[in-house]
Amino acid sequence: MDSMQWIDSHEQEIIATYKHLHTIPELGHKEFKTSAFLAEELKKAGIEVEEKVDGVTGLIATIRGREPGITFAVRADMDALPLTEETGLPFASTHPGVMHACGHDANSTMALWTAKAVAAAGIKRGAIKFVFQPAEECLTGAKNMMASGKLKGIDEMVGIHFRIKSEAKFGEATPAVAHAAICPLKVTVRGKGAHGARPHQGINAAEVAGLITHAVSLVHCDPCVSHSAKPTRILVDTGTFNIIPEKAEMYFDLRAQTNEVMDFQLERVTRAITKAAEAVGASAEIEIMGRLPAAVMDQTLIAETSAAITQVLGSALPPIQVAGSEDFHIFAIEGGMRTTVIGLGTDAETHHNNKVVYNLEAIPLGVKILTTLALNKLA
Ligand SMILES: [Zn+2]
Ligand SMILES: [Zn+2]
Repeated sequence: MDSMQWIDSHEQEIIATYKHLHTIPELGHKEFKTSAFLAEELKKAGIEVEEKVDGVTGLIATIRGREPGITFAVRADMDALPLTEETGLPFASTHPGVMHACGHDANSTMALWTAKAVAAAGIKRGAIKFVFQPAEECLTGAKNMMASGKLKGIDEMVGIHFRIKSEAKFGEATPAVAHAAICPLKVTVRGKGAHGARPHQGINAAEVAGLITHAVSLVHCDPCVSHSAKPTRILVDTGTFNIIPEKAEMYFDLRAQTNEVMDFQLERVTRAITKAAEAVGASAEIEIMGRLPAAVMDQTLIAETSAAITQVLGSALPPIQVAGSEDFHIFAIEGGMRTTVIGLGTDAETHHNNKVVYNLEAIPLGVKILTTLALNKLA
């Protein structure tokens, strides 16, 4: 039996794994049941697995060949979102207020079953690692896995994630999803409180927040590269109408399709915020809440992944660009790995929605693509 037949013969079990993980969604850094289940399944298949890689829930499974070669890795994220599921599915979340609405249960299922398929087939050269990371939605999971030092020696890494219908339909897949860089900012504006009848004695933090919003909108970056910087939350409230507010809290969401434009944008936005506040005698303290890099992916690996997709689906979509972000790209930027992310079509309308339903038949196709790619490299 070849590997594709092996996967076909396990299709019901693959779907059952997904349904089980879907019932037990857990938030970032708390994926205890998910991680324990995956570790147990890997061990049952006789696969070497290291637990608590990041000190909490991260896992690395390894399958080795006899001859020297590259170390190739498949990455899956495990965390869910703080949503109350309203799909009405028989395998809906049993954890109140938590739901797998980004398909990380599918990503974990595909990585687990690729490990099983590759273990069943065996590899001749090099090694393959399966990296199950926590907390992608918190922007911290990949960083913590890198900090463990246990990903050293991985040459290439491929991730996989469901895409929405407008990007890839069921039965389609792209070998590369170029995510944007993201950098959220928290800004604390300090003015001076006063009586509403004597505004000249105060510095109105609500007005300063408006001035800062306008100043940020005047920042211009290279128009050939997609980018945006906008306020997403402004909190200022004295509780009444006749007090000049002293303090405002603002949140900005910055995105850019390249890391160079993000550097430029961040420098200009920071200056605009600081100087706008200073211009009217207020101050603005800026906190960078986190930062994820834009995708920097390997062209050779993309071509190899495209070939594997074509072997399984008959054709591959071209690479796509999206404005969303992924902490996966930390593995390339900080870990020096050659990487790409596969985007798999499932006919989903949207992610991060409590009614999202995926076409589960995509999951075995994802297993086939990852297994084909791994065996093309290592068998
Ligand atoms: Zn997500
Ligand atoms: Zn996701």
